[in-house]
Amino acid sequence: MRRMYKLNQIPSEAQIKKHIRSIVFGENMFCPKCKTRNVVKQNERFWCRKCRTRFSLLSHTWLSNVKVPLQTLWLILWCWTQQVPVKQTGKLTQLSLPTIYHWFSVFRSHLPKDQETLEHLVQLDEAYFGGRNGRALFLGKQVGSRKLAYQILSHNHPCREHAWKFLHTYVASETVLNTDGAGIYEHINNWWPVYHNRDIHKKFEFARTSEVEGIFGVLRTFIRRMYHHVSCDKLPELVREFCVRFSHPEMFDSPYEYLLITLRLATTR
Ligand SMILES: [Zn+2]
Repeated sequence: MRRMYKLNQIPSEAQIKKHIRSIVFGENMFCPKCKTRNVVKQNERFWCRKCRTRFSLLSHTWLSNVKVPLQTLWLILWCWTQQVPVKQTGKLTQLSLPTIYHWFSVFRSHLPKDQETLEHLVQLDEAYFGGRNGRALFLGKQVGSRKLAYQILSHNHPCREHAWKFLHTYVASETVLNTDGAGIYEHINNWWPVYHNRDIHKKFEFARTSEVEGIFGVLRTFIRRMYHHVSCDKLPELVREFCVRFSHPEMFDSPYEYLLITLRLATTR
């Protein structure tokens, strides 16, 4: 886990605006509505001569309603990208915990939502979160890659239909599939065309699912350390955050990298 507390490197308000301008608009300003470059600057705002839209740097992005100063936003985002726990982020920014939870949740909501299809060699396992009335989580990992796929059930009684649904949604046919010896995976290759290997834990066979079991451990540590605990209704978004962090670590190198991907996406839509 990285702990880079470079708090003295928060850019100035002007530098942040410059970053945002280059991310959202590139070299030359254009109208976010009609895309013409025929725009005029008026103080802090812009005006399109063609469609008469008035806009600012942020008005057509997901940051349009930001109420905190940009330097504060940058600091909260820096904390989130570097996995600074919620409480510690509150202390660093002098903001309330609900405010930090709110912003972390906003950042999370702009992460990519699509999951990739796993292929070649895949380990699949399930884990349980939230105690007696908790949820079952299926997690697949493509061995030798950073590709993950997951599915969360609304209950904690997975059966073969759920395993099959996971496979036909996220695992390519003709994949080599490794699972443990749980009954729900028995004869799963009759349900979906995979080459299936099972480990029998009672016989101390663990190697075939060791990578995905390791990921479950890292996921539990991530949730406990950063958010302290997770409620069942928040589990899906925290698991998604974790999986994107694992699969696309470059997005979390700095606030700039995160904004580069999420703000640019927002303007090309
Ligand atoms: Zn326009």
